[in-house]
Amino acid sequence: MPVLISPTRIEWATHVWNPVHGCLRGCPYCYAKKIASRYFNPSFTPEWVEKSYRKTFPINPAIIFVSSMSDIEYWEQDWIEKVLKKISDGKYNYHIFIFLTKCPEIFELQLRNYKIPKNVKIGLTIDGTKIPYKINPEFDFLNFEPLIEEVTQGDVARLLLYTKIRRIIIGAQTNPYREIPIRWIRNITYISDIYGLKLFVKNNVRNYPVVQCRDFWK
Ligand code: SF4
Repeated sequence: MPVLISPTRIEWATHVWNPVHGCLRGCPYCYAKKIASRYFNPSFTPEWVEKSYRKTFPINPAIIFVSSMSDIEYWEQDWIEKVLKKISDGKYNYHIFIFLTKCPEIFELQLRNYKIPKNVKIGLTIDGTKIPYKINPEFDFLNFEPLIEEVTQGDVARLLLYTKIRRIIIGAQTNPYREIPIRWIRNITYISDIYGLKLFVKNNVRNYPVVQCRDFWK
């Protein structure tokens, strides 16, 4: 009997698919590491999880977050190849697959050998602690989550220059909760409005209207 990928409470996705568990970046707030360390991968060293890879996608269109337990920066090449192959085998064009990384050079490194399918969106996560000067124009969106340090208007404007980015996500750190100062939020929303971008502000950031997940990715 086929096992379906899991629905998720992540507000900007409908499901998660985790063919890889583990990451070497060592972010102090990493919830994935806490879960993995407790239940199945104490060292949090990246590992291929065949059972998860084989799970079935839903029949109805879904927004599938592919790497909630890892960062593709640390994936082996054949893992990337297998995952992209499954996504692009023609049966799943109606799903959207979301990848996130903190590596601004991911297109020059891990993804350099691959053609990215049209229904794959690749986002760069920036928490404010380290802001790249320039990013690859192929990124689809920026994910300021969890935002733990200020990103100035100048930083946001510079990051968007010459890219095809049309979407931005903002979210606060949870567990422990860390409120984002309103000025930091305005820095991002102000530039996002100037560029005419779609904005998804998570429920844990107050004072901002909520956009529906599916509308966000349309
Ligand atoms: S990049 Fe993501 S998965 Fe990796 S340690 Fe940081 S929060 Fe965890």
